Amino acid sequence: MYKRIVVYMTATVIVMIGLAFSQTDQVHAEDIDQEIKELKEKSKKASEKRSSLSSELSELEKKIEENKSEQSEMKNEINSLKDEITDAQKKIEEKQNEVNQKQGEIEEVESEIAALENKIKELEQRIEELKQNIKETQEKIKNREGLLEDRLRNLQRNGGSVKYLEVVLGASDFGDFLNRSQAVSKIMDQDKSILKEHLNDKISLEEDKKELEDSRAQVEANKDELSNQRQHLENEKQSLVADMQELQGLENNLNDKLSEQNNLLANLQQKEQELQEYTMSVEEEQANLAAQERAFDQLIAELEEQKKQEQNNSVEQTSVVSNDYGFTRPTSGTLTSTFGPRWGSFHYGIDIAKPGPGVAVNSVASGVVSRSYHSSSYGNVVFIVHMVNGQKYTSVYAHLRDRFVSEGEQVKQGQVIGHQGNTGRSHGQHLHFELHKGNWNGNKSNAVDPVSYGIQ
Ligand SMILES: [Zn+2]
Repeated sequence: MYKRIVVYMTATVIVMIGLAFSQTDQVHAEDIDQEIKELKEKSKKASEKRSSLSSELSELEKKIEENKSEQSEMKNEINSLKDEITDAQKKIEEKQNEVNQKQGEIEEVESEIAALENKIKELEQRIEELKQNIKETQEKIKNREGLLEDRLRNLQRNGGSVKYLEVVLGASDFGDFLNRSQAVSKIMDQDKSILKEHLNDKISLEEDKKELEDSRAQVEANKDELSNQRQHLENEKQSLVADMQELQGLENNLNDKLSEQNNLLANLQQKEQELQEYTMSVEEEQANLAAQERAFDQLIAELEEQKKQEQNNSVEQTSVVSNDYGFTRPTSGTLTSTFGPRWGSFHYGIDIAKPGPGVAVNSVASGVVSRSYHSSSYGNVVFIVHMVNGQKYTSVYAHLRDRFVSEGEQVKQGQVIGHQGNTGRSHGQHLHFELHKGNWNGNKSNAVDPVSYGIQ
């Protein structure tokens, strides 16, 4: 467009200069000078605007580059965190295996200890039994000793051998005498032998008891040793568990860090999206401006035509219910991003999102389509100019899946112009909707918050 102006201006200058030379009229020359001056001024302004747009664009591109390098830095950090986490998890697994092995060893030792405890119990029972036997034998010895003492005391009390002799001499004949003396000695010998037997029994029982007590002491010693071993293993296990817990703590920290970094990355991506959304080439902007001019002219002509018809015969109005400001919703879904400053940039519209392939996007008012094209930033985008209650508006519908209207087409309020999509620089399906009070311009200086106009 500026090229055209420059060509036009140059041509005019040549014609004017030509006229200036062919005519000598001073007044005409002054007019021409004035016109040249004005044209030069216009051209200067246009080139100034163009250069200011270019510098704005390069500023934005710089911001996007910075954002991208931050993103790649963040991604590297995330990857190294992921590696650290994998490493920590591997170490935890190894520690867990060691703990399990230690636990197995502990259980083995514990079962050995339990077996020894059973053995000790058994031995103690047997010792108890022997004690009982010894006690009984001692009783028998005591009785036998008592019996023997009685017999000896009887012999002594009755004069010792006298009494013995009496028994012996009381014999009726020699044969009887021999029998009597032999009987007395036999009884005494029997007593002695029984006593000896008992004493031997007692010695043997005590020997058995001693042996059992020794073996119990040995088993106790073994048990103590195993208990020490178990304690040792338990300590080792505790230290492994502590190591493992430390690693788990480290893993948790790393995971926290990772989710923090992921959030930061998501923020950067969101920021990039907002920055990109705003980025538009100067050529694209010029085309939009020119198309808008044509569309408004067309809209005004059509409205005037409509007015004439309405005066002749009342035309039926469409029955779409609009809000207090004269608008309807551009689409269904949730308001996911509001109008306003964000990420060091400015969000000049609102985002409304609803999943699914068939979410209709509708014109918020009747009007004329000024642009319907594919933009590298906005994706499939439609610009519509409106005249609502005597006020010019321009609405923008970006990231569409498809477009059902073309430039210069007249649209009714609520008419489906496409579907929500994820085209252009967009992360996930949504409608990016802008409302401009008056003309749309590249700086979006006329952008208003659609929510303030009842649109959300
Ligand atoms: Zn948006």
